[in-house]
Amino acid sequence: MSEVQLRSQSQYLHEKTTEEEYEAAFATELMARNEDEILNCLFAQDITTHYSIIINMVDLLESNSDLCHILIQNPTVFVPILDQAIQVVQGYYLKTHSLRSHMSQKSNCHARVMSLPHCPELVRTIIPGSEDIGRLLSISGTVIRTGITKMLESERQYECGKCKKVFSVQSDVEQYNTVPKPLKCLAPSEGVLCNSTKFNAVSLQVGDMPESCQDYQEIKIQEQVNKLAIGSISFL
Ligand SMILES: [Zn+2]
Repeated sequence: MSEVQLRSQSQYLHEKTTEEEYEAAFATELMARNEDEILNCLFAQDITTHYSIIINMVDLLESNSDLCHILIQNPTVFVPILDQAIQVVQGYYLKTHSLRSHMSQKSNCHARVMSLPHCPELVRTIIPGSEDIGRLLSISGTVIRTGITKMLESERQYECGKCKKVFSVQSDVEQYNTVPKPLKCLAPSEGVLCNSTKFNAVSLQVGDMPESCQDYQEIKIQEQVNKLAIGSISFL
């Protein structure tokens, strides 16, 4: 069993808890609170579209405060585990539900974390700074512009010229959501990384659907002027 890599040492994080144990704990919460949403998603016809499961953090804080705290402290690790738990719950209903023959697994089903508890560390009235990277925050501001919804390539596949294996590279939000060109082959070869520097992007054939695309929209907000100290400038 793999142990979750925990970056911050909070009293709420238990280093010996395995990823599978967190996944099971999230699955229990999902079945108690999000059963209808997950069933609706299973009954839906379209298996390619993306579905959202709303996670109300105030409710989660009441029923399992440890899970709520680890999600807030380390969302980059634990939101993906929560997404895996949604798949586990789907799998459970697909095996046990009386109407399971009308259901299909939806792999693009994501947790949408909402309603953060109202405590000062989590709520901002000014635009967050670099110290807030990787944290879940609630920001109130005035939406002044919404961009059009665009398609964003979230992953690209490369084939190594040496070991011939295919590996994928994720897009990087800090590089304007482009997929950075890899420096070395990342495919493991007999247990060790191949590290070859020769590879080609796997190009799509005519008629192929790109597999890893996301909808993407930019929303500009302005800090609320009435919440700012007198004399300070409101930022976009
Ligand atoms: Zn290689």
